[in-house]
Amino acid sequence: TREVHLARRPDGMPVTDDFRMITTSLEPPGPGQVLVRNVLMSVDPYMRVRMAKLPSYPHWELDQVMDGSAIGVVERSEHPDLPVGTVVSHRLGWREHAVLDAGHASTVRHIDGIPLTAHLGVLGMAGFTAYVGLTQIGALTPGESLYVSGAAGAVGSAVGQIARILGAGRVVGSAGTPAKVAYLVDGLGFDGAFDYHVESLSECVATNIPDGIDVYFDNVGGGHLQAALDSMNQHGRIVVCGAIGEYNALRGQPGPSNLIYVLTKRLRMEGFTIREHMAEYPAFVARATTWLLDGQLRSTDTVVSGLESAVDAFRDLLAGRNIGKMLVRLSED
Ligand code: NDP
Repeated sequence: TREVHLARRPDGMPVTDDFRMITTSLEPPGPGQVLVRNVLMSVDPYMRVRMAKLPSYPHWELDQVMDGSAIGVVERSEHPDLPVGTVVSHRLGWREHAVLDAGHASTVRHIDGIPLTAHLGVLGMAGFTAYVGLTQIGALTPGESLYVSGAAGAVGSAVGQIARILGAGRVVGSAGTPAKVAYLVDGLGFDGAFDYHVESLSECVATNIPDGIDVYFDNVGGGHLQAALDSMNQHGRIVVCGAIGEYNALRGQPGPSNLIYVLTKRLRMEGFTIREHMAEYPAFVARATTWLLDGQLRSTDTVVSGLESAVDAFRDLLAGRNIGKMLVRLSED
């Protein structure tokens, strides 16, 4: 079986030589454990942060297998609750097989009409992050306007759709290509969208959201945050979900020069990480499953095949070559 190790800490955009594919022998599961054949694994922006060594965030060790969300099928079981054939989600991605304690795996219930990929995307951490960010951090109320950056990605595409379901007023997103912009409006029902490769992001935001922003869902940081600050309405909220524009150059980024608007517009700006909200995850899954089944919410993903493509998938994610959730298929379900 094969797994991917971090060979050295990337400098800027990761390159192939920062990683190493290792072939290793399979351990049999011990008492209380299961052996899982991975079917799908997730690549996520936060992984770029784990490749660096920062005091504020846990890092990966060199020459060790990396980890992350995955879904697989139990092939050998030493635990009665997870018999052979059970589909489970767990945290041991970046490898073709995983041996883990049954307590570290959750059963994935098959629901007719919902693809397995959705459990790592719109029904998984990406959708949940969108939901928590909108409802708890952004406290979006019906009629309020919503602007989301990184809008065509896994979290962003869920943000716009869920905002609409929750009764938002104008919903606008920005993304990196004309095809993504078209998809946001024609495929996902955003009221407006634009390509952020423009001369003045601030003017573009103002044109697209002429009545101002009540909730800004920030996935990008940097100049995107600065442009949104210019258009924020009084008592607006800024949901600091991510800063993907800065992950390849983690230190020494200048802050927005218009941060004074937090004061003069009485804004609230709050960061969060989804891991501390897990208690509400089952309630989210129940609601989002209904939305998916009645067609209000769409599951979008970009799937590549084979563990040997996982590093490229990760690099493509950082370069914006995904629409919706970026996943790697490791075997058939
Ligand atoms: P996405 O599916 O959105 O993929 C990343 C996207 O970021 C790319 O598709 C690309 O699209 C865009 N991007 C890359 N570089 C830049 C740049 N310099 N400027 C603007 N856009 C860029 O990933 P996720 O949905 O998984 O994550 C989105 C954000 O949410 C990330 O910042 C991530 O860290 C954060 N996050 C936070 C969580 C939390 O708990 N707080 C949990 C999960 C995610 P494009 O073509 O538009 O450039």
